Amino acid sequence: MMNNNKYKILVIEDEENINNLLTALLETNGYQAISAYNCQNGKMLFASHRPDLVILDLGLPDFDGMTFLKAVRKTSLTPIIILSARAEEKDKVDALDCGANDYITKPFSSAELVARVRSTLRNSRHSSDEGRFPGGKFELNGLVIDYDARRVFTDGNEIKLTQTEYNIIALLSEHSGKVMTYTAIIKAIWGFSDSNSTKKLQVNMANIRRKLGVKPCENNYIINELGVGYRMCERE
Ligand code: CA
Repeated sequence: MMNNNKYKILVIEDEENINNLLTALLETNGYQAISAYNCQNGKMLFASHRPDLVILDLGLPDFDGMTFLKAVRKTSLTPIIILSARAEEKDKVDALDCGANDYITKPFSSAELVARVRSTLRNSRHSSDEGRFPGGKFELNGLVIDYDARRVFTDGNEIKLTQTEYNIIALLSEHSGKVMTYTAIIKAIWGFSDSNSTKKLQVNMANIRRKLGVKPCENNYIINELGVGYRMCERE
């Protein structure tokens, strides 16, 4: 029987091999995939198919993928995952700050791509729900954030955080699974940014990680996406 409840995903990627690989991978994982090979065609299919998520290559033959992103964000919150061959952080940061939900750098693993798609779809449903997590608590590998009490515990021991440190970890947890850029975090926490903001954020993050008992190169709880921002690991 035909399953009409599948999530519809639009793949905009001009390299045929990668486009085929992506659509096959998505279909294997229970999604319905639609292919576009340039920006113009992508816009048409976006309008006619109303996909639940878009995977967007930045380097397209007619227009830059950023053109598509900006055009869509004027009218729609449909989640968009950027696919970029460019390793430069600047492109990822620009795309995230223009409203992309996440990014994947080519070459990517199948597992990574599927995980990103799942987490992005889950996050976008999340934000449309009222309220946060069951019981007003965030839990991840022994870490507990109690939003009502504004208290944080690891393995049952309370971690003493400053107001700012608490606000940062609470913010990241509310977007767990999703990378947040420095700019997005700074705006949410301080409401403005100046030349000191990134440094201030990094100092706060270093303190949070130390207090949580995370060693500098470990990625427990919070992943440092170098040059881009921070990502709270996703709850199981
Ligand atoms: Ca391309």
